[in-house]
Amino acid sequence: MIVPPGSVIGIVGGGQLGRMLSMAAARLGYRGHILDPHEHPPAADVAAFATRADFGDAAAIEAFGRVVDVATYEFENLPVGPLERLGDKLRPGTKSLAIAQDRAREKSFIEQCGGRVAPWREVSSLDDVRRAVEELGVPVVLKTRRYGYDGKGQAWIRSAGDAESAWAAIAEEPAVAEAGVDFQAEFSVILARWADGPHAFWDSPENEHREGILRRSTVPCSERIAPQVAEAREAALRIAEALGHVGVLTVEFFAGESGPVINEIAPRVHNSGHWTIEGAVTSQFEQHIRAICGLPPGSTALTVTSATMDNLIGEDVNDWPQLVAEEGARLHLYGKHEARPGRKMGHVTRVSRRA
Ligand code: AMP
Repeated sequence: MIVPPGSVIGIVGGGQLGRMLSMAAARLGYRGHILDPHEHPPAADVAAFATRADFGDAAAIEAFGRVVDVATYEFENLPVGPLERLGDKLRPGTKSLAIAQDRAREKSFIEQCGGRVAPWREVSSLDDVRRAVEELGVPVVLKTRRYGYDGKGQAWIRSAGDAESAWAAIAEEPAVAEAGVDFQAEFSVILARWADGPHAFWDSPENEHREGILRRSTVPCSERIAPQVAEAREAALRIAEALGHVGVLTVEFFAGESGPVINEIAPRVHNSGHWTIEGAVTSQFEQHIRAICGLPPGSTALTVTSATMDNLIGEDVNDWPQLVAEEGARLHLYGKHEARPGRKMGHVTRVSRRA
């Protein structure tokens, strides 16, 4: 099914990803319609329409489904049931969402697809945590099965004595206990897949995190990662196919001693792909719109020799006067009113081209 320009694209979630999706959609002549519970979601500033509703409000989502031609989502902590009301209009479908939003299901699914993850156990009591630490050895990281992002809902156990405090730190929520991976670097595979099978990969960025939050993505990646990209792409594509995924899918990896280890899946455009706006022929945002609307794939080729994307987190955004004055720096501000610690307020991309 082709959704032609002029149609309305519903986007569930009104954060910066929805904002950049809506801008890419507008360039191709579409109109964005944002559904979000907040008063001034960043995406609503750049969309033709906005509906303020809770993500769990099935009646509101059904009504939204009647006024959009196709719908997508921009983050994964959404109740699945109400989204089912969007039926075939929702791309990607709810399977991608249901699996990516539960770390235990996600890891089992990755393993079924032949992907490698760090050794892990499901835990739902302090006894489980102690047993997992015994079996996996330290360090271990506890991650809540649901609602974790940017390092939230995580606690490290560096010696067996930390088990109790770590379990308390994640509020005794059902979790996975995951062996710490001794990685050389981190990277992601970002791909787009179409309903009838075609797919496209971008160059894999090398990703640097601090306190669980992405700080910087760089392409091309370093030699620590490059030899692992082919295997990582194969695993990511198997996952996309098994999900029947339509649109952009991101798989985050650790470059381990003996090959790529999957950290997690995001069934959507991703922070580590923001550099594609300036650094690739087709950005991840435009490509997602193309894929969900059934337009042909755009080229993912690099247009630059290198690109570096730095996130502006919390008070970093106060540097905007210098950044906007810096020659060649491309500043993106998300229009968020309050710079809370850890909040992604914008990003800046710097590229270089061969002289
Ligand atoms: P996550 O929220 O799962 O993406 O984790 C955020 C960041 O914490 C990752 O990008 C890594 O830098 C670090 N991290 C998470 N899990 C592990 C692990 N099993 N071993 C080592 N580092 C990890």
